[in-house]
Amino acid sequence: MKKKLVILYGGRSAEREVSVLSAESVLKAVDYTAFSVNVYFITKDGDFVAAGVFEATPHADDHLPTNETYDKSKVMPASAIYEKDAVVFPVLHGPMGEDGSIQGFLEILKMPYIGPNITHASVTMDKIMAKHVFESVGVPQVPYVALTNLVETAEKIKETAKKLGFPVFVKPANMGSSVGISKAENEAELAAAIKEAGLYDSRILIERGVNAREIEVAVLGNETVASTWPGEVVKDVAFYDYQSKYIDNRITMDIPAKIDTQTMTQMRTFAETAYRAVSGTGLSRCDFFLTTDGEIFLNEINAIPGFTQFSMYPLLWENMGISYADLIKKLVELAEQKFSERE
Ligand code: ATP
Ligand code: MG
Ligand code: MG
Ligand code: MG
Repeated sequence: MKKKLVILYGGRSAEREVSVLSAESVLKAVDYTAFSVNVYFITKDGDFVAAGVFEATPHADDHLPTNETYDKSKVMPASAIYEKDAVVFPVLHGPMGEDGSIQGFLEILKMPYIGPNITHASVTMDKIMAKHVFESVGVPQVPYVALTNLVETAEKIKETAKKLGFPVFVKPANMGSSVGISKAENEAELAAAIKEAGLYDSRILIERGVNAREIEVAVLGNETVASTWPGEVVKDVAFYDYQSKYIDNRITMDIPAKIDTQTMTQMRTFAETAYRAVSGTGLSRCDFFLTTDGEIFLNEINAIPGFTQFSMYPLLWENMGISYADLIKKLVELAEQKFSERE
């Protein structure tokens, strides 16, 4: 009997368009001799919509419904995704997808699901909380200031400038795909950047800007954790923003990264340590900065990284000998293992 895979995509966060691309990739790569797939779209308002049942690879030109194209008559109660023995793949990024909320919902439904558990998702989605956890296990990070109460902003701007210097990067604590992030070169820009980040979250992180290469490590596992050789995001822009990530396609990936073995091994160790510290389950992409003088900083952990066939995470595993389709199978196994341990 084929196993049932339930794909959830879209979602309420500003990263919903990235999710559509990841979900279409998964749907096209699944081994249909082993799986049949139920797909559900979550609209930007949070409604669940039945988006099809797939028994075979869809045509390359077929596209999943989006907020512009979905069939309103197919809206259904969220809990109607339930099916006994099915495994859910929440291919969702950002708040309400990667932050523990959908994971909590799936726990209540008693469905096994791929990816982070509630703690792993919520801690890594909140960049401020994540910093505290990484600190506690001695994983190096760039100096930062956390704004958790926007009322204190006026005094904090001066204090922050003094502590971090310029440039700084200003980020909403809960987001991804560089949404709401800006670089500030002076106090006036810092004030504007805080305002911009504040559109997405009331918790804001300000970091010292570093001149660094961006190196990423893929991690997979529950209790037993495996990591990959790192890859580099090679870019001709200093700031890997939304435009360069998804619109201009102005990056290439160097896999494995052209750095010495000692540095790569150190990064893998930091990645695994940080992953364990956040109660890592399923998968994560750990993003590092490697500065021009060889310093390593962990930038962040993405608990549900971009998952198209051309995304860094699956490509890092391909370099380790695990194909995209096998990676999906492995993730299903990890989901079932995690589920059976809890029951
Ligand atoms: P993702 O899409 O990986 O989830 P994100 O929205 O969580 O990204 P970050 O990875 O924290 O955001 O930052 C986005 C980009 O901004 C980085 O890839 C890097 O190019 C730049 N950046 C962020 N912080 C710094 C910093 N402290 N110094 C230099 N560049 C930075
Ligand atoms: Mg991120
Ligand atoms: Mg992300
Ligand atoms: Mg990032």
